[in-house]
Amino acid sequence: MKPYYQSTRKNADPISAKEAVLQGISPDGGLFVWPGLGQEKLNLNKLIQLDYKGIAKEVFTALLSGYTSEELDDCIENAYTGSFESDEITPVKDVDGIYILELFRGPTSAFKDVALTILPWFLSKALNDTGKKALILTATSGDTGKAAMSGFEDVDNTGICVFYPHNKVSAVQYKQMATQSGGNVKVFAVEGNFDDAQSMVKKLFLDEDLKEKLARDDIVLSSANSINIGRLIPQIVYYFDAYRQLVNKGVIQTGEKVSFSVPTGNFGDVLAGYYAMQLGLPVEKFYVASNANNVLTEFLACGTYNRNRPFIQTISPSMDILISSNLERLLYYASNKDTEKVAGW
Ligand SMILES: *Cc1c(COP(=O)(O)O)cnc(C)c1O
Repeated sequence: MKPYYQSTRKNADPISAKEAVLQGISPDGGLFVWPGLGQEKLNLNKLIQLDYKGIAKEVFTALLSGYTSEELDDCIENAYTGSFESDEITPVKDVDGIYILELFRGPTSAFKDVALTILPWFLSKALNDTGKKALILTATSGDTGKAAMSGFEDVDNTGICVFYPHNKVSAVQYKQMATQSGGNVKVFAVEGNFDDAQSMVKKLFLDEDLKEKLARDDIVLSSANSINIGRLIPQIVYYFDAYRQLVNKGVIQTGEKVSFSVPTGNFGDVLAGYYAMQLGLPVEKFYVASNANNVLTEFLACGTYNRNRPFIQTISPSMDILISSNLERLLYYASNKDTEKVAGW
């Protein structure tokens, strides 16, 4: 079955992945999901024979409807040739019997590089079909901003605006963003915390006046946050690739289950793992690791999501998040795709 995408909040208007990449977020405020996820599995035995790019091609072919095979090859080559420290892209290292997936070997040293090196290419292919230009709006708690600006720097027909919470990103992150080159990048400090910045960006996406104004210049709004499926789907790849490396190292047998512990903020990374599991990756458990802003720990332990709590500034600002956007996608699947329920929540 060809994957199609719908809002988590309404059972209507199926669109291709390509269209969903362009739109970023559904007009009703929901996130794009594929209702059929999990009905078909990827061939694990085949995947573990491939390299990173090969696995990427399999995952993208299964999920990214609307793109031709050549377009996907092009995106993968542009993103993952020469931009990371080595062709391994995301090496797994043995640290005293604990296996660490090193996601920080990309151009800006943020794990977000894995997805943000390829999203601009997905978007630029989608734009080619429409003759339009895209303005990317992105909220960042620190890492996304630099990785996104770096990924979009001077990519044709795109521009990017990044919003970060004033005085709430690290000194290095501030300098990384403030010194970004490119004629199509802009960065703004916002009074408030990350959640304020993200809420504001979400509001801009739903602003009909702004949309109309931009439409006159053939500009569409899109997002580089992990609410965009073009950000989420590339992250599925490294779960399979990590598994392949463990098999190759002789740590596990093919088919054996593994667990992942995932530092979590906006719930994109760990959700990509959940998607990988739905696509057939043998997983025992995902550990959703929080810092002092442990709204997700509480939710998963007690079933209550209480964002009305003090926002604690920590040394891991990328996890200082109280409104964990991608959780909505998990709720969609966990509620057996009950869009009414999700919209209500
Ligand atoms: C973004 C980020 C996180 C949070 O990842 P999510 O996908 O938003 O859950 C955790 N750690 C670091 C270093 C990050 O950059």
